[in-house]
Amino acid sequence: MFGEISEQLLASDTAPGILTVDLRALVANYRALAARVAPARVAGVVKADAYGLGAARVAPALEAAGCRDFFVAQLSEALALKPRLDADSRLYVLSGLQPGAEPACAHAGIVPVLNSLEQIAAWSRLARARGEELPALLQFDTGMSRFGLSAPEAATLSAEPSRLDGVRLLHVMSHLACADEPGAGLNGEQLAAMRRLSAAFPGVPVSFANSGGVFLGPDYHGALVRPGIALYGGAPTAGTANPMAPVVRLDVRVVQVRTVPAGARVGYGGAHVTSGERRLATTAAGYADGLPRALSDRGAAYWGATRLPIAGRVSMDSLTLDVTALPPGTLKPGALVEMIGAHQTLDALAADAGTIAYEILTGLGTRYHRVYR
Ligand SMILES: *Cc1c(COP(=O)(O)O)cnc(C)c1O
Repeated sequence: MFGEISEQLLASDTAPGILTVDLRALVANYRALAARVAPARVAGVVKADAYGLGAARVAPALEAAGCRDFFVAQLSEALALKPRLDADSRLYVLSGLQPGAEPACAHAGIVPVLNSLEQIAAWSRLARARGEELPALLQFDTGMSRFGLSAPEAATLSAEPSRLDGVRLLHVMSHLACADEPGAGLNGEQLAAMRRLSAAFPGVPVSFANSGGVFLGPDYHGALVRPGIALYGGAPTAGTANPMAPVVRLDVRVVQVRTVPAGARVGYGGAHVTSGERRLATTAAGYADGLPRALSDRGAAYWGATRLPIAGRVSMDSLTLDVTALPPGTLKPGALVEMIGAHQTLDALAADAGTIAYEILTGLGTRYHRVYR
């Protein structure tokens, strides 16, 4: 008992920082999206370990809130997650199956997204060999040139429906390239293409919208929406107020504080030179902990409302903050400063790094002490 507690304390004290995942906020975001799209249903996109937040914790929390559909990218992710879900929940593999992976997928009761005529042929062949129907989603490429059947391939398929023998289509789906930009012309073009293509499969419900698509309006909702980033508190639409509740908080530890004179060089390359006497704090987290090197001399941490600019280049295991704005002695070794939280949103940190919230979340790495609330 005491051993367990001291191990826990040790884990949080020795980690480069604390990553807090608010599962109540996650569920609140799920419910807000569900209310917005009803009667359409909301699936949870939990690929890449639920955007780095831990699919083993995130998916069951969503499931307890009523979510029954989960998307991952790879079969390996689906196989790992399957035992953690209720038997009646459905788990889909977005990127489709590698040749030869079909029996393992069928055996585990996992539903592939069929993205090409080859994938359709392999899934149908397996269904016929097993003498049973196998479920699948069918994806069309409506403008991204990434996954899914092109319009000519879709025409081939509707002209030769026997290609789908043994396959029970649960949904036809497609994916939006610019869903976070409501003004993008491609959205309407993709919607029109999806309407044309799905008309060849009457009675099969449509899955179309990701997070951004949910906010493009009911035309985009279909029967099953597939949000990821909005569940995790990221902004679904660029350039407007974020309606989602923040899910992630990241605090990193200060390991050393020093005062340097004017002209001191800070960090690799000596690229940052102090213009006057400065107080600097070195943190225990760096780019190996998902704080991109692009934050060098650009980003900041926060102590309360006080902005602490990053001075010099971000290192693998540390970065240096200019903490001169704080009274001397405020930050002691072991103090936690905010990287993501009330004063700096996930999207703001991503913008400083020249990237998107998705890349920040999926890059956070494994060294933080994780707390799930
Ligand atoms: C990742 C992904 C999603 C989720 O996208 P968000 O922008 O995070 O909501 C939905 N559908 C497909 C096909 C995806 O690849």
